[in-house]
Amino acid sequence: MFPFFSCFSLFSFFIIFFLSLSCPCFPARTIPDQVTVVTADAHNATWHDFKRFLDACRGSHISGMSELKKYFHRFGYLSLAETNFTDTFDTQFESAVVLYQNRLGLPVTGKLDSDTISTIMSPRCGVSDSAHAALPPLHAARHYAYFYGRPRWARSSPMTLSYAFSPNNMIGYLSLSDIQTIFRRSFSRWSAVIPVNFTETDVYDSADIKIGFYRGDHGDGQPFDGVLGVLAHAFSPQNGRLHLDASESWAVDFKSVGSKVAVDLESVATHEIGHVLGLAHSSAKEAVMYPNLRPRTKKVDLKMDDVAGVQALYGSNPNFKFSSLFESENSYNQAFGFSSTHSNWTISLSLLLFIFFLPT
Ligand SMILES: [Zn+2]
Ligand SMILES: [Zn+2]
Repeated sequence: MFPFFSCFSLFSFFIIFFLSLSCPCFPARTIPDQVTVVTADAHNATWHDFKRFLDACRGSHISGMSELKKYFHRFGYLSLAETNFTDTFDTQFESAVVLYQNRLGLPVTGKLDSDTISTIMSPRCGVSDSAHAALPPLHAARHYAYFYGRPRWARSSPMTLSYAFSPNNMIGYLSLSDIQTIFRRSFSRWSAVIPVNFTETDVYDSADIKIGFYRGDHGDGQPFDGVLGVLAHAFSPQNGRLHLDASESWAVDFKSVGSKVAVDLESVATHEIGHVLGLAHSSAKEAVMYPNLRPRTKKVDLKMDDVAGVQALYGSNPNFKFSSLFESENSYNQAFGFSSTHSNWTISLSLLLFIFFLPT
């Protein structure tokens, strides 16, 4: 029994590995000519400076690398035990880079290559990536993750969660009605796939989900950092706080906003609601729960990975049909090279090879 499966798995792995090298579903990665993500004057100065570590690898010693280690520490890639970071690219830092590349869906090189530096410098969610629940190894189709302990909202079914906007912490250049519309749409994407309803309330203090725009240190131990860098953060269930960095140029419609550093409010709202519900960061670049979002980019549609993750926590909305996700599933599979045809074909070939090599 077990030898059969281990042998089968070995062949499957071999074939999948072989296909991953040869199949046109896996296009060669385009290496960006430069690692500068945002060319506008206003950018997060600290992260922008990281471009000077391009091509650093184990053994490199570059003044200021301790700042990059602090970044890795902040987002959960270097242990809390080590706080006196040096400027040397040591083996521990190499392990952190490998872990980062794995979790961000990057080519795993262990070096600060252009893909890695470019991703490090791009704006992202402030929630640490360390909150990942352990995933089965080689379970390639699953990228979603949960916070430690897999917390979720515990309410009787049908579940309704209320949300409210902070009366004192909003931004002046967007109307309340625009913000309300954006959040209504963002919540509805999640309620379409799970049996949870969201309703807006004026009573902020007793709302389950409390939404506000904050600047710098705002009392929860996770200060915001000005333009770009960290865009927002939210807390795991059943905390309900959802905070957006008031220093960002939040956009409702890019057509009416010229700023190169404009950030799509709806994309970030949809992502942060995922955290409020209990999802941690996904390593699937297409997923809404991927931690990074470049300026002037819109990513609001839930992908299969997001839906599978949240439905494993709350179950499926009875009205939800997977066929409605066909398009996004298609693009998801194209992005990651997993099509059902491909998988079936791979399994068939593995079986044939197994039978062929079966000892007689
Ligand atoms: Zn996040
Ligand atoms: Zn906060």
